Amino acid sequence: MPSPLFPSRSTIGIAGAGLLGRLLALQLERAGHHVHVFDPAPHAEARGAAGWTAAGMLSPVAELECADADVFQLGLRSLELWPRLLQQLAVPVEFRRDGSLLLAHRGDEGAARRVLDLLAHKVHDPALAPQPVTAAALRELEPSVRGPAHAWMLPHEGRIHAVQAMQALAAAARGVQWHWGRSVVQADPGVLRCEDGEHRFDHVFDVRGTGARPELPVRGVRGEIFWLQAPGLQLTRPLRLLHPRHRVYLVPRAPDLVVVGASEIESEDRSPVSLRSTVELLAAAHSVVPELAEARIVHSESNLRPALPDNLPRLETQAGLTRINGLFRHGWLIAPALVERALQEPKP
Ligand SMILES: Cc1cc2nc3c(=O)[nH]c(=O)nc-3n(C[C@H](O)[C@H](O)[C@H](O)COP(=O)(O)OP(=O)(O)OC[C@H]3O[C@@H](n4cnc5c(N)ncnc54)[C@H](O)[C@@H]3O)c2cc1C
Repeated sequence: MPSPLFPSRSTIGIAGAGLLGRLLALQLERAGHHVHVFDPAPHAEARGAAGWTAAGMLSPVAELECADADVFQLGLRSLELWPRLLQQLAVPVEFRRDGSLLLAHRGDEGAARRVLDLLAHKVHDPALAPQPVTAAALRELEPSVRGPAHAWMLPHEGRIHAVQAMQALAAAARGVQWHWGRSVVQADPGVLRCEDGEHRFDHVFDVRGTGARPELPVRGVRGEIFWLQAPGLQLTRPLRLLHPRHRVYLVPRAPDLVVVGASEIESEDRSPVSLRSTVELLAAAHSVVPELAEARIVHSESNLRPALPDNLPRLETQAGLTRINGLFRHGWLIAPALVERALQEPKP
């Protein structure tokens, strides 16, 4: 669909080749525009963007614990958009919509009740609300889940393989001019300023995540994750443990991985994962799926979620410039719908 922001065959500059940058580049190129993307990463596979690190949970309901009604609606819309987007890519990307499970151990009913009450307050459609799952039903749904005594199904949730999707999005946008190793110092209407000078465009998108300072008051929130390799483990859905101390989730990922995440620390430290996060997250994961005891820790990673002071996403449009930022913990959940909204914004 043509965008009301700029005429057809416009020249577009994008600052940032993370999740938003790749989605925008693909859609704008497919719409017939001339697209240039600038990013300090040395090449398309370099993993600086938070998009690479994400576990890929697509959880509009569960995320309401720390999000608002707009994030919820953007999430529901994105769950419709992802399959259509993925169809445009040359290589398959793992995407599933089998729902997700909220779990709680015996003794943690208080922590679980707090989250369930919050969700009940925010979700008005009974079809989307958490549905209690009996012990027998849980054994049928996820036989490897052995620890938790309580379970609730969120039937509309899903997951995406973030690494495959980051690779496939860039590969599919073949007509885009990717300027790797090029940092944007300032993004203004119609202009991207790099160290080597100014580049002029009909319209500019600033999607630099934590790199968008000082134009936006964005900060990075450290998150740490682990990839466990567990051949033979039967796990279909993302699992989220409702725990008084830790936020822990387990997300199955092809071919035989379970991604365990994630810490949420108010720090811009990008150094490797800490001992404390390792012990806490992996002990919690093992308490949910005891079979993981023999899994191999094949990878760990830390990165920064781009967050604004209210922890909510922001889309700002003026003539010649659109800024999108603050996707925080929900980037994969909401990015397609946010990009759709950005491209449909009426001309300012
Ligand atoms: C541990 C962890 C787990 C997560 N799990 C999930 C999840 O399960 N579900 C979910 O929905 N979301 C999750 N997220 C959040 C999601 O990854 C982010 O919300 C999303 O990546 C934000 O997209 P973005 O394009 O705004 O930023 P990014 O993906 O970070 O991309 C920003 C890009 O801008 C570039 N850049 C920076 N400075 C400059 C500059 N000066 N000039 C040009 N380019 C620049 C960077 O190099 C980068 O490529 C997780 C994040 C983390 C860290």
